[in-house]
Amino acid sequence: MPKRLWLKQPLAILAQDAGNGLVIEGSRIVEVLGTNQGPTQPVDATFDASRHVVLPGLVNTHHHFYQTLTRAHPSAINKELFPWLQALYPIWSRLDPDTFRIAVRLALVELLLSGCTTAADHHYLFPASLKDAIDIEADEAKRLGLRMTISRGSMNLSQKDGGLPPDSVVQDADTILSDSERVLNLFHDRSEGAYTQIALAPCSPFSVDKKLMQDSAALAARFDAPLHTHLAETEDEDRFCESVYGCRPIELLEETGWLRPRTWLAHGIHFTADDCTKLGRHGVGVCHCPTSNAVLASGFCRTRELEQAGAPLGLGVDGSASNDSSNMLEALRHALMLNRLHYKSASAITHFDVLRWATEGSARCLGRSDIGQIAPGKQADLALFTLDELRFSGSHDPLAALVLCGAHRADRVMVGGDWRVVDGMPVGIDLVALREAHTKAAEKFRD
Ligand code: ZN
Repeated sequence: MPKRLWLKQPLAILAQDAGNGLVIEGSRIVEVLGTNQGPTQPVDATFDASRHVVLPGLVNTHHHFYQTLTRAHPSAINKELFPWLQALYPIWSRLDPDTFRIAVRLALVELLLSGCTTAADHHYLFPASLKDAIDIEADEAKRLGLRMTISRGSMNLSQKDGGLPPDSVVQDADTILSDSERVLNLFHDRSEGAYTQIALAPCSPFSVDKKLMQDSAALAARFDAPLHTHLAETEDEDRFCESVYGCRPIELLEETGWLRPRTWLAHGIHFTADDCTKLGRHGVGVCHCPTSNAVLASGFCRTRELEQAGAPLGLGVDGSASNDSSNMLEALRHALMLNRLHYKSASAITHFDVLRWATEGSARCLGRSDIGQIAPGKQADLALFTLDELRFSGSHDPLAALVLCGAHRADRVMVGGDWRVVDGMPVGIDLVALREAHTKAAEKFRD
């Protein structure tokens, strides 16, 4: 018999009519209890949540885990996207399995501690010294118990062919497609409650050719897998597309068969109102990365226009060289602030909007309906926060306080019914040893 746990009487909860909490059976939520309701059947255990603000587990829809090794790098700080990338590509080409593994582990733990239960990582860097990056990510996620959409990224357009990256970090299309098929066969689980899914993710219009975009879309369709890429991030990208393809980035998507519900895009900044309508009509999702967009001065994603058009809208921290942290709560707070500034209205974007983007919206971007909400039948993925720190003292609305007072660390995190963070600490991880090993690994990327 699966164990039944009553998470009782939370201080606050992001769910409809759930004052008395929820009941979890095995890996799923089976009951949501109104203020005067108790469980309909006996429970095996009760967790007193009266000190906790309870959210659905946060879902991060864009990241580059390997970049935790090059945060605040002197070669890249204070640059915009293209020169920033050109400074970092040669440094990133030093990645190897050992340094990559520790980077992945640290990023996952950092996300988990901020309340994240599902992470999408876009890994597009396969130098000769790192062939099995996707296998390493799948292994690390399994060890920590997080759900992941691992994006098998790709770059095949190097400088000699008119692209932005150097030869040292690109692969040829045949290698990319055969390895994509291999990892789809190995790791892409389409079942409800899946822990590992694979997306295909040509990196950007300036690092892959049109044929690889088309072939990736066809392969993803065969495996019913999502598609992901960076798009409409900068004006430099617009100019690149115009000169190489004679069209705008969104037209490139259309020509290559990417305007489909299985596609979600990172950034989505330089879209017109008509583009937003088109994306909404085709069900293409957009991951808003407020922190990275501000750090690289890339611009602003039209979140309201996209949502009004029906496009799934999620949140992402983006890679740790342009954030430079991996904290989902910080992304929520930055989203609230940037959106209010952009739309010049405090009521246009509320804390409920950014909480929805980080949960339900992000889950929709990843094509998942089994996570992102606290409701019967959904996976028991939860993030619990206390308001015990000085920063919360004197706050009155607990859900608003998480965003406005700047919560940054969960007290407890549950994935699929299992506690993965207890009393603010990740289960089974020695944080001091992890930080020491990661700091040592980062030395290889110093200059
Ligand atoms: Zn990115």
